[in-house]
Amino acid sequence: MSGIEDPVDDLSVTPPKRWATGVPAVTHALEYSLGQTTVRRTALTLLNINQVKGFDCPGCAWPEPAAGKRHRNEYCENGAKHISDEATSRRVTADFFQQYSIAELGARSDYWLNQQGRLTEPMIKRPGAEHYEPIGWDEALDVLAGELRRLDSPDEALFYTSGRLNNEAAFLLQLFARAYGTNNLPDCSNMCHESSGSALTETLGIGKGSVSLDDIHTADLVFVVGQNPGTNHPRMLTALEETKRNGGKVIAVNPLPEAGLIRFKHPQKARGVIGRGTAIADQFLQIRPGGDLALFQALNRLLLEAEDERPGTVLDHAFISAHTTGFADFADHARKIAWEDVLDATGLTREEIERVHDRVLESGKIIVCWAMGLTQHKHGVPTIREVVNFLLLRGNIGRPGAGVCPVRGHSNVQGDRTMGIWERMPQTFLDALGREFGFTPPTRHGLDSVDGIRAMRDGTAKLFLGVAGNFVRASPDSHVTEEAMRRCRLTAHISTKLNRSHTVCGDTALILPTLGRSDRDIQASGEQFITVEDSMSEVHASRGRLAPASPHLLSEVAIISRLAHRTLGGTPAIPWEEFEADYGSVRDRISRVVPGFEDFNARVAAPGGFRLPNPVNRRVFRTSSGKAVFTVNGFTMPDIPEGHLLLQTLRSHDQWNTVPYAMDDRYRGIHNARRVVLVNPADLTALGFADRDRVDLVAVWHDGLERRAEDFRVVAYPASRGSAASYYPETNVLVPLDSVADISNTPTSKGVLIRLEATRAAD
Ligand code: SF4
Repeated sequence: MSGIEDPVDDLSVTPPKRWATGVPAVTHALEYSLGQTTVRRTALTLLNINQVKGFDCPGCAWPEPAAGKRHRNEYCENGAKHISDEATSRRVTADFFQQYSIAELGARSDYWLNQQGRLTEPMIKRPGAEHYEPIGWDEALDVLAGELRRLDSPDEALFYTSGRLNNEAAFLLQLFARAYGTNNLPDCSNMCHESSGSALTETLGIGKGSVSLDDIHTADLVFVVGQNPGTNHPRMLTALEETKRNGGKVIAVNPLPEAGLIRFKHPQKARGVIGRGTAIADQFLQIRPGGDLALFQALNRLLLEAEDERPGTVLDHAFISAHTTGFADFADHARKIAWEDVLDATGLTREEIERVHDRVLESGKIIVCWAMGLTQHKHGVPTIREVVNFLLLRGNIGRPGAGVCPVRGHSNVQGDRTMGIWERMPQTFLDALGREFGFTPPTRHGLDSVDGIRAMRDGTAKLFLGVAGNFVRASPDSHVTEEAMRRCRLTAHISTKLNRSHTVCGDTALILPTLGRSDRDIQASGEQFITVEDSMSEVHASRGRLAPASPHLLSEVAIISRLAHRTLGGTPAIPWEEFEADYGSVRDRISRVVPGFEDFNARVAAPGGFRLPNPVNRRVFRTSSGKAVFTVNGFTMPDIPEGHLLLQTLRSHDQWNTVPYAMDDRYRGIHNARRVVLVNPADLTALGFADRDRVDLVAVWHDGLERRAEDFRVVAYPASRGSAASYYPETNVLVPLDSVADISNTPTSKGVLIRLEATRAAD
């Protein structure tokens, strides 16, 4: 036995915290680290994480300060847990798979599966088998390559990527998929920031944020919208603290009053250890889920009206006329926004919104940061377009201390997209790839994550290769996704640790264990480093420092190169063996294909790497008009019938993406349980329920399928009226596959219509 048991659900509730981080964060991080590995290994990981000569945190994509300005402990509680989780001394061996059948593993919790430790050798589940068994690398890759070659069409294969994948491996994966003949490159970005990419590309010409850390530090006003940095990007609080100390203000907009939005106690500063820390939000707007579009429309209307009253003093006319298009139509629409609709959609008062407007007028430099609270709604793309409208009005694009800041949740999710992991890469990229490697990449758009699940469900996709991540748990509509995966001829996962996706198998299933970010990577030409790109387009090197978890692990670059060689055969134009032997040779090719990476090897050798150019910062907009685009966005809030709630799925504080590190959510005061639903006390009373009642959450969707998450406990919580919040991935079962954001196809995980029913399990 592993000695780790599935956690028992034993809910206790304490008042939500009013501040984040501080000494308890350090204590919790160390406790977790020392529970995973030795003191020496813990020290080695924590001394190297996010250091110039060390490795990049595999957690979120928040950037590090410039080389020379970094603290010796440049990580947060979650980063420390995440790297310790990877550096764990626990091991999953062949004996383990002999002991547990796949069905038994499937019955275990996400927590238990993760706690078993690092995968150590390739495993296969053969057709009809109930257990995984060991397999050598050559045979494993032959099985996978053989199945790829047997497909009737390359478009029957899906090549999924999660944001942990480094630039070099991501570049090779997309090269392999396209040389094989498909653009089926779904990624985790499809399920998180795709709405940001869609909206920003349309309006500003590039689907990335425009700001740097210095911009955050020097802004007059930072909006943090639909985002919980205290849990999901904790070092962002350090940056916001600096904003505040420089005289800037912060406005937080969120359905829940999250601890990190209220106050931050810096654990390395006296004011954070023995003082009260720093208040983060100067104003907190407890908005209804999905009400952000209405909020920004109201602000835009107020700005237009202020300009009418004091012509020439509010809007940046010079910027608007020189650099934008579409202003007249936008302004015409914005002036007609009805206040009653705004107040209904936001749940805010007019006074609250006017107070924000006053702060906007007082601020010369404004940044808007956001995350899933904006992107995972049906109108996620129009919402972000409206944010751009707001910033354009006063010229808050393309100058220091101002701009757009979509905050990415996984360490290299932005870099993977830059490297070509996208089902719809522009033709210029495909042409450059084809020129460099002497083939014609397919031009037909591929499948994203949602369409990939549909294709597996419908039998038109038959092979799934997942590189990093936990696709089954990250995806919406869990039962539908699991059934879709089981229909595949072959499922394969390149992974560091055990997760539920390994238990949801096609006829044949492979587990291909790989090096982690902290593992030393030695290839034929010597020790290698990989590179990543953070949320602010900083590209830098990452060097593993620990002895690998097993001698049988291969790097992702090696696995992809060997698989490609076996599938496609050797060609002089694509020297897969050379790529595996020397990652510098991959970077040479990237520098000739991907704009902004010229002279990649030399530039990334500089301490801290380099920042990719963003033309928006020169007020160059690569849109079809060559200008930034004002847009007209209507808002249609979801109709919430009486007796229903709008559910947002979210992470607990002790969780990284799909992996819970504990059963607690310290900041929200939830302990020893994850099957909880947070609801405003007034809504509970209106619905006829009481605190701690046992309920089922039942999704309301029009396809006739019952989506029920069973046996949750209600917790009376200061959530915005009409909303509910519950943990992902347990509630992914409620997110209908067809409930997606317009344009971006992102699952609407922050806007799921549900009703509560007394739990069946209590009968
Ligand atoms: S803020 Fe993000 S990148 Fe930084 S240490 Fe924490 S999890 Fe890692």
